[in-house]
Amino acid sequence: MIREFCRVYPAAYQLSYIVRAAQEGIFNEAATIKQTGRIFGAYFSTRRLVAFAPSNSRGVNDFIQTIRHEILGHFGLNTFKPSEKKALIAVISETRNQPTLCELWSDVAMCYSHFPESFKAEEIFCLACEAVELNSTVDKIETQRIFHQVILARLRPMEYDDLFAIAVAVAGGFKNRWS
Ligand SMILES: [Zn+2]
Repeated sequence: MIREFCRVYPAAYQLSYIVRAAQEGIFNEAATIKQTGRIFGAYFSTRRLVAFAPSNSRGVNDFIQTIRHEILGHFGLNTFKPSEKKALIAVISETRNQPTLCELWSDVAMCYSHFPESFKAEEIFCLACEAVELNSTVDKIETQRIFHQVILARLRPMEYDDLFAIAVAVAGGFKNRWS
């Protein structure tokens, strides 16, 4: 499935992948499900490495969501210019009370309660990426306008549809490039 994903999104070939039978193999012996909770995958930005523990997934759909989460989400965020990533995370951080986004926020708040707000905002983006299908498309110009108006100029609060459009645009970019 990882290979198939890379075929569709060649930009993902830039990363290395490891698949481990158990999450302890990704981190260390102490990183048991009991200690850290269930971990499906992890992205190590400095090593450009994505690690998966597919046996933790509840099935194929779960696992493809994890692939999207780590690659389109975490790696995708790092393909923005640093200033744009910062602006995006800052805007997402302020969406906690948006009705269209509060469901994602409650998931993140439950899993990552003791993490900083910027970390939670990054997870919100990755959760949106989990829903990006192969055939999800957005209008490129319209998405650029959304990015400009909502993220850079902050003319209005972000809604789920804005976030999803940006996630789909990141995925679209991954389809056409190798580096
Ligand atoms: Zn994540």
